[in-house]
Amino acid sequence: MSKEHFNQDLIQFLNASPTPYHAVATMVAKLEKAGFQPLDESEAWTLKEGENYYVTRNGSSIIAFTLGKPELGARMVGAHTDAPCLKVKPHPEMSRHSYFQLGVEVYGGVLLNPWFDRDLSIAGRVQYLNDQQQLCHQLINFERPIAIVPSLAIHLDREVNSGRAVNTQTDIPPILFQLADDENVDFRELLKEELVRQGHSDCQEVMEYDLSFYDTQSAAVIGLKNNFIASARLDNLLSCYVGLESLLNHKGSDTTALLVCNDHEEVGSVSTTGAQGPFLKSVLERIYGTGESLTRAMSRSMLISTDNAHGIHPNYASKHDEHHAPKLNQGAVIKVNANQRYATNDETSALYRILCQASGSKVQHFVTRTDMACGSTIGPLTAGVLGVRTLDLGLPTFGMHSIRELAGTEDAFELSQTLVNFFKTKSLPS
Ligand SMILES: [Zn+2]
Repeated sequence: MSKEHFNQDLIQFLNASPTPYHAVATMVAKLEKAGFQPLDESEAWTLKEGENYYVTRNGSSIIAFTLGKPELGARMVGAHTDAPCLKVKPHPEMSRHSYFQLGVEVYGGVLLNPWFDRDLSIAGRVQYLNDQQQLCHQLINFERPIAIVPSLAIHLDREVNSGRAVNTQTDIPPILFQLADDENVDFRELLKEELVRQGHSDCQEVMEYDLSFYDTQSAAVIGLKNNFIASARLDNLLSCYVGLESLLNHKGSDTTALLVCNDHEEVGSVSTTGAQGPFLKSVLERIYGTGESLTRAMSRSMLISTDNAHGIHPNYASKHDEHHAPKLNQGAVIKVNANQRYATNDETSALYRILCQASGSKVQHFVTRTDMACGSTIGPLTAGVLGVRTLDLGLPTFGMHSIRELAGTEDAFELSQTLVNFFKTKSLPS
């Protein structure tokens, strides 16, 4: 696959994945096309060496793997499916000054200002009763722009450019339409109409939902010299896509190659589906057994946790340590933090750099300014659950947690080639 083809496929993946549910569904479709077999957590598993499998939990986290020889351990890549966004509240209907709006909850660390004046849509999962009174669930995506959060005119807030705070309760409920006099709207009825319109005519009553707003603008290659990819949810669907392509393209290896993409990273990872929950450990126990067997397997294994890094921004360069200031299109970034906000250690960092030397890939380092707090990711949490050696790695981006983030067009393709080699790595130091 050429780099251009890879990036075009990435753009389709980003557009098709407005929520973790859609991201997992998109990944499942690619895995099934490549012959991966579904596993059901509620059934007994009979796994065979050399075969390809995947399993999902709650439809929002996924683990896919090619089973290798148990004595070689696993080469694992981790990422997360969720992104900061605005979620629809359970009783969201608001009718104010003739406008119908939806009350929203802020999910994760949303950069709020970029959400104003965007053409928004809604996607997620709906629980409904069908005509047999059975509870069913269905992914839903309105696709078309159906809502907007208009800015306040500068004439009504002269201080806006020098200091604007956004109140999350009062300032961001999106407007969906204008109401007729005395019109009463039930959001669940609107959902039912949309489900029927999308072909689910068995829907009798919408019970509950997990719905998010998202920007309808397509991901795109941009810049005068096509240096950049702009999109929502690059954190961290970029890593999900790179990990998936690497798993699909690695062939002829005896080691177990595994990709885990967890939900709920942006809200701390403690959940049934999150990296600090039991999902990955339970799958590894089914592969290797429990107790000592698992400990021995993990001591022969390695995890690369992939989550984006902060590239140095030319307008805000002082926010970086000048010696640890990654640039877009200059390679994946090894993320280091002495206080273990990142799980990278000297050994995993050195092993990754050897992989880069072998494949001719570029590599950079990131350490937060010593006088600033450091973010974290699934790496330390997964390492803490499994006791597996871990590298925290990420592609350099701008605008993390904005509704439109920016990555380089060179980096993702190059990282996927390095991760293919990682999946094939036979021996690790003991
Ligand atoms: Zn992230």
